[in-house]
Amino acid sequence: MRVFAIPMRTRFRGVTRREGALVRGRAGWGEFSPFPEYGPAECARWLAAAYEAADEGWPEPRRTRIPVNVTVPAVGPEAAHAIVRSSGCRTAKVKVAEPGQDEREDIARVEAVRDALGPGGRVRVDANGAWDPDTAVRMLRALGELEYAEQPCATLEELAAVRARVDTPVAADESIRRAEDPLRVRAADAADIVVLKVQPLGGVRAALAVAEACGLPVVVSSAVETSVGLAAGLALAAALPELPYACGLGTLSLLEGDVVADPLTAVDGVIEVRRPRVDEEALARYEIDGDGWRRRADEARAVLDERRGAAL
Ligand SMILES: [Mg+2]
Repeated sequence: MRVFAIPMRTRFRGVTRREGALVRGRAGWGEFSPFPEYGPAECARWLAAAYEAADEGWPEPRRTRIPVNVTVPAVGPEAAHAIVRSSGCRTAKVKVAEPGQDEREDIARVEAVRDALGPGGRVRVDANGAWDPDTAVRMLRALGELEYAEQPCATLEELAAVRARVDTPVAADESIRRAEDPLRVRAADAADIVVLKVQPLGGVRAALAVAEACGLPVVVSSAVETSVGLAAGLALAAALPELPYACGLGTLSLLEGDVVADPLTAVDGVIEVRRPRVDEEALARYEIDGDGWRRRADEARAVLDERRGAAL
């Protein structure tokens, strides 16, 4: 097990360094990088994803190129315009409902992004659950035509209420943290689309099973991983029967560096489906002492073994 800590270009989930462990098996490298607040029960699924990558590899891809979105943080309209233009992406995800900001700032940002994309561009917004239902309805009407609104409100009940009142499709992101969640989302009529991430769901095969059981269109997103973790996200996006939306896998730019020599960065809004290998020279730049991560993995493994034992 090799452990890395890569500085983030911008603070994310309160962390300034993305840490994780890399495991190597006969199929290749796998990434185990649960966020700091997760305990062993949660981490067990992330570890299962790393083992799948290292020991089994992934199902056959159905496509070779995955379109991705550019993410526009809660910046002013000029900066938003520039971010979209320089990305080459045809789909933009715009962060809205930032604490302390005015609703007019969201409207101006979305307008600037729409202008930067031009005809045929797709705009989605992400409120990270921050709106109450009335605000969500008012804002979604004010923001004009959107591809979808990601997690406009926090709870399933609120999402369902908003969905019943607007034409904009609703996507569930924060509402999905474990395998049974997409089914609850569907049962509650809370969303039109689900955002799925490989590590929290326990691997590519587990995520495919979740997608099939839930029956809603999927947007594959990253957990802000190195190219080792992103490759698993690409494998999921490549294996899904249908992929109607650009994925949230263009996140490498959030990290200051990577552990491979040929990173999975988007070119003209597309990432090629491939699996880069860990480069010793690149890893050496970010490798740290791994005792804490070894302990975390051991605890997660104990949970995983227990679950597998119970399933037999
Ligand atoms: Mg989101």
